[in-house]
Amino acid sequence: MAARSGADYLSGLVDSREIWVDGERVADVTTDPRFQGAARAIAELYDLQVAPDLIDKMTYESPTTGDRVGLSFIEPRCREDLEKRRDMVKRWMDHTSGMFGRSADFMNIMVTALAMCWRDFQRDERPYGDYLRNYYEEIRERDLVLTHTLVTPQYDRSRPVEEQDNDVAAHVVDENQAGWIVRGARMVATLCAHSDEILVAPSSYLPANSDAEKFAFCFALPINTPGMRFICRPSLTPMAAASEMDHPLSRRLDEIDGTVIFDDVLVPWERTFIYRDVEMCNGLFNRTGAMEQVMHQFSIKNLAKAEFMMGLAFQVAESTNADQFLHVQGMLSELIVFTEQLRAALVAAEADIVERENGFVYPGSMPLWTVRQTFPQNFQRMCEIIQIVGAGGLVATPSFAELDGPRADDVDRYFQSVNSGSRDRVRLFRLAWDASSSGFSGRQQLYERYYSGDPVRLAGALFDMYDKAPFKERIDQLLDRLESAQD
Ligand SMILES: Cc1cc2nc3c(=O)[nH]c(=O)nc-3n(C[C@H](O)[C@H](O)[C@H](O)COP(=O)(O)OP(=O)(O)OC[C@H]3O[C@@H](n4cnc5c(N)ncnc54)[C@H](O)[C@@H]3O)c2cc1C
Repeated sequence: MAARSGADYLSGLVDSREIWVDGERVADVTTDPRFQGAARAIAELYDLQVAPDLIDKMTYESPTTGDRVGLSFIEPRCREDLEKRRDMVKRWMDHTSGMFGRSADFMNIMVTALAMCWRDFQRDERPYGDYLRNYYEEIRERDLVLTHTLVTPQYDRSRPVEEQDNDVAAHVVDENQAGWIVRGARMVATLCAHSDEILVAPSSYLPANSDAEKFAFCFALPINTPGMRFICRPSLTPMAAASEMDHPLSRRLDEIDGTVIFDDVLVPWERTFIYRDVEMCNGLFNRTGAMEQVMHQFSIKNLAKAEFMMGLAFQVAESTNADQFLHVQGMLSELIVFTEQLRAALVAAEADIVERENGFVYPGSMPLWTVRQTFPQNFQRMCEIIQIVGAGGLVATPSFAELDGPRADDVDRYFQSVNSGSRDRVRLFRLAWDASSSGFSGRQQLYERYYSGDPVRLAGALFDMYDKAPFKERIDQLLDRLESAQD
C-alpha cells in the first residue's frame, strides 16, 4: 500500500488495542470523545498528503515499489531532498499550528535516519541491521503511524535503573527461538492511542556491565500486540463545552500521552534492532546522526508554532489598539525575532549539510541545537506575551455559544472592540486563551520543555560536544600578543 488517506488511517485504528483512560478501557479511539478530535486531526493530515494538488509535494516515488510514499520517509542524498522534506513537514505543521508535535513525520524521520545506518546494527549472532532496514521499508510502504518511548518510569532518579530493587522499568526476562520476553513499563508514549506501532528505543546512558544489559534494547511492535497496554493521562478535551469554538485547539489537537506496560510480551527477533547491547544503545541518536534529522523536523514544527503565536498576538493586540503602545510593540517585536531566528537556523542548517560515509546528507548540527536549547523558554515567553497583551479579555470573553443565545444582543454590543465585531473578537480570544493559558497550553509548555530530553542534561551534552578549542586558543593568542606588546 502507498501513501494513505485519512479514511485509510482511521480504519487502521479500529482493532483490539488496549488503551485505558479514566479507569476504563477505550472501545474505539475513533469515536470516543476523548480521542476522536486528535484522530480526525491526523486523518486531515493524511488527506492533505493525497490531495491531487499536493500529492507531488507531499510524497515521492518509493525506491522499491514506485508507489507514492510520504516524503518524511525520504533518505536525503542532497540539500534539495532536505528542502522538499521541509516543505512537506511545514504543510502538516501549519495545518495544526505547530501544536501537534507528534504527527507521523516525527517518527518517520527518526526511523528513516536510524535505518540509514542499518549496517551499524548488524551483529554476528543476528542481522539486526537487516531487521531494521526491513522495518523501515514496511512502515514506509504501509504508511504507518508510530509512537515511541525512550524513558524508564520515574521511580528513583537518584540511582541508575540497574541498581534499583524493583521490577518497574521494562527489561528482558527470557528468550526463545521466536524472540524474547519484555516485562515492565516505559514512559512517555505520546500519541500511543492514535498510532499503529510503537518503537521502544534507548536514551539514558547505561554502564557497561551485565546488570545493565537487560535494559539495553530497541524494538518495534504493533499497538495491538497481546499483553501490551497503555494507561493514558486524562484528556484535555473539554467534554462539557457549549461550543466547539470555545476550545479550538484542545478539542482537535490533544495528542494524549500514555505509559506503556509490557505484561510478558514476546518481541519477535525480526522486530528487534538492538538486544542486550549497552554500547550500541549509549549515544545512539547522536552517533548515527538521527538526532540531526529529528532536530530538523522539530525545528520546522517550532517555526510553524512561532508563526502561529506571532500572528495570534498581532491580532489580539490590534483588536483593542493595544499595539499602539511602545512596550506592546516591543513584545510583539520579540515574537518577530523568535520567529526569524528559527527561519534563519533552518536555512543555516540546510546550508551547512554534512555528507556522511553512508552517502546520505545531514543538516548542520549547531543551528538546530540552538533551536533545541532556546525554544522551550521562547515558547513560554510567547504564551506570556499573549497573556500580557490579551490581559483581562482572555477571561472576560464568554462562550461562543453566547453569540446565538438569549443574551446575543448584550454580547453583540459589549464584546465588540474598536477593530473587531463581537463574533470575531470572541472567537479570536477563545483561541488566544487556548493557545496561551488553558490546560492544553500548559501541556504544550511542558512538552516543549521536555519532549526532546531534560534541558539540564542537554546543556551538558552540548557543552561536551562543542568544539571549544579554537575559541580558547584565540584568547591565548590575544593574551600572548598583549603581553609581548608591553613596554
Ligand atoms: C508532554 C511530554 C511528552 C513526551 N512525549 C514523549 C514521547 O512521546 N516519547 C518519549 O520517549 N518521551 C516523551 N517524553 C518524555 C521525555 O523524554 C522526558 O520527560 C525527558 O527525557 C525528561 O525525563 P523525565 O521526565 O523522566 O524527567 P526526570 O529524569 O525524572 O527529571 C526530573 C527532574 O530531575 C532532574 N534530574 C533527574 N535525573 C537527573 C540526572 N541524572 N542528572 C541531573 N538532573 C537530573 C531533571 O533535571 C529534572 O529537573 C515526553 C515528555 C513530556 C513532558
